[in-house]
Amino acid sequence: MLSAMHSLFDLTGRVALVTGGNRGIGRAIALGLASAGARVVVAARDAQRTADTVKEIEQSGGQALGVSCDVTERMSIEAAVVATERAFGGLQILVNNAGISGGGPPAQIAEEIWDQVVDTNLKGSFQMAQAAHRLLRRDGGKIINLGSEYSLFGSGFVAPYSASKGGVIQLTKSLAIAWAADRIQVNALIPGWIRTDMTAPVERMESFYRSIVQRTPAGRFGEPDELAGTAIFLASMASDFVTGISIPVDGGYAAA
Ligand code: NDP
Repeated sequence: MLSAMHSLFDLTGRVALVTGGNRGIGRAIALGLASAGARVVVAARDAQRTADTVKEIEQSGGQALGVSCDVTERMSIEAAVVATERAFGGLQILVNNAGISGGGPPAQIAEEIWDQVVDTNLKGSFQMAQAAHRLLRRDGGKIINLGSEYSLFGSGFVAPYSASKGGVIQLTKSLAIAWAADRIQVNALIPGWIRTDMTAPVERMESFYRSIVQRTPAGRFGEPDELAGTAIFLASMASDFVTGISIPVDGGYAAA
């Protein structure tokens, strides 16, 4: 019984590419997928952090490759997929985690900020999925997109972020429908407030931080590692009949 359960979540023989896999939530997901047996490609811009994460995976007995990748650049995306195929022979799991926040009072948001946020979070996820499709359809595959509470709720101060993350959920549903026949399941994770570089400034805004903690039924921020289990589920055969959905991992924030 125990081994049947293990094999449901076993990723041995699978190859995963995690964008923004060199820190924060992406790093935790990369380590988690590797611990379940996947060979992992860590794709991000900062070469040193990427090398550090690759080393960490290797030191814990896994196999990993670091690639320099900017998800706002089509050529860079395609090069990452080619490098993955060259190193590991295929690709079955794509985690579209790379993301940035950005905003301000909507009337004053510069066009460059809008473009940067939407190009990274939404267009980057779409173009990555497009580039990976050829390999994902070969053996059947999984795409895990990173949404946000701001996929569900609006925000008066990070409108481009919220708009991009709302789009990620609709993209998730659309690709799930389009690629179901290719045996590709497409789902999203909706992290609550997780302690990373992205939310570090929020932790320093005392009253805002306190209001978030109070609004979260679990009464705290989450840690990046707490996303790994659900990511493993969505990457594994345990979720083969699950597609087009978004799973909150948020201490109850979306329920409250
Ligand atoms: P971090 O700021 O800690 O890390 C962001 C990651 O994305 C880094 O690895 C960074 O690597 C990478 N990245 C950013 N821009 C690019 C780019 N153009 N090309 C490739 N990689 C890029 O963020 P989190 O870990 O907090 O967030 C990860 C995801 O989870 C994001 O999509 C975020 O929106 C989402 N999320 C986070 C929440 C939180 O509370 N932390 C809540 C809800 C959603 P590098 O700079 O080296 O390229």
